[in-house]
Amino acid sequence: MTLTKIEPQNLRTPGPTPIPDDIVDEMSLPMINHRGPEFKELIEATTGGLKQVFMTNNDLYILTSSGTGALEAAVVNTLSPGDKVIAATAGSFGDRFVQIAEGYGADVIRMDFEWGDAIDPEAIRAELHKDPDIKAVLVTHNETSTGVTHDLESIARVVKGEFNKLLLVDAVSSLGCIPLPVDGWNCDVVATGSQKGFMIPPGLAFISISARGWEAYEDAKMPRFYFDLMAAERSLSRGQTPWTPNVALLYGLRLGLDHIIGEGLENVYERHAEVADYCRAGVKALGLELLANDESRASNTVTGIKMPEDIDGGRLMSMMREDEGVVLAGGQGKLTGHCFRIGHLGWVTKDDITEVLEALERVLPKVGFKS
Ligand SMILES: *Cc1c(COP(=O)(O)O)cnc(C)c1O
Repeated sequence: MTLTKIEPQNLRTPGPTPIPDDIVDEMSLPMINHRGPEFKELIEATTGGLKQVFMTNNDLYILTSSGTGALEAAVVNTLSPGDKVIAATAGSFGDRFVQIAEGYGADVIRMDFEWGDAIDPEAIRAELHKDPDIKAVLVTHNETSTGVTHDLESIARVVKGEFNKLLLVDAVSSLGCIPLPVDGWNCDVVATGSQKGFMIPPGLAFISISARGWEAYEDAKMPRFYFDLMAAERSLSRGQTPWTPNVALLYGLRLGLDHIIGEGLENVYERHAEVADYCRAGVKALGLELLANDESRASNTVTGIKMPEDIDGGRLMSMMREDEGVVLAGGQGKLTGHCFRIGHLGWVTKDDITEVLEALERVLPKVGFKS
């Protein structure tokens, strides 16, 4: 089988993200027995490293799935069909969390915010006041489809501090890039994926669960098998996973975590903040408009940009890819065709974004954009 040769590219999708060469090499280490002593060392080291990045002493598990698997795990391990939950959404990923909860039979009170807006913690407070039967609140930390970071700290203060409800968090495009002190904010279940901030390929998901989350597990009646966290717990206590894991990705993860912890979490956050600021300033200087309605809530991992009305968006994306070697992401859900996005998370520097901005400057006029 021959495919088009895959050329080096400036991959600026908000996941998957580029992989440093040493991690690429690390992932080609010889295969090992996942029931043997080398694996025990590997799973214990990576789980420990992830707890540092999650800033948590809660239990944490590595699942072989994409990020959505961890979101599904968050739901099925804590809820029962018919449980009343609030799911706040302002984009495609917020909607996905709603779909998972509804798919498993939760009674979802859907709170919709305008795409491009941040979720309003006051509105969540009002909804929790209205109905004492609500069991859990489901929220996305960083809405990748719009490039908005929700104020999880304030949301958590309401959900945990004032009402003491279960808080389930989609942190797929924020964890390890934007501060999310899981214990500091008292988040019960936090889910993320390998291909966003961790500088490794897609295929692993990480999930932390609090003591309160485990209490909910005791009563949770949603069907589960592959993503049963008690199975993960039993196996991990022996240095294993319940099912065959993606061993090669775990090799990469070990080194990726070394890089993150070696750089220092604060420095990693600062780098993402600086690169994102630089990206937003550059995009605006080109005459483009951000999707985020309040720039102070614009994401440090992905910049969402309104597609200019007068241009062919498909052509912009394909010319960026074919002529410039810059791969951007289009819009998702109802934003399809109306926006494009620049990912700047994981292994990213200002130089990567300079390349994107310079390429946009060359290509935009060719697709009819007049700034
Ligand atoms: C990427 C992403 C997901 C989905 O992850 P998959 O790995 O594609 O399953 C979920 N939520 C957010 C916020 C994301 O950015």
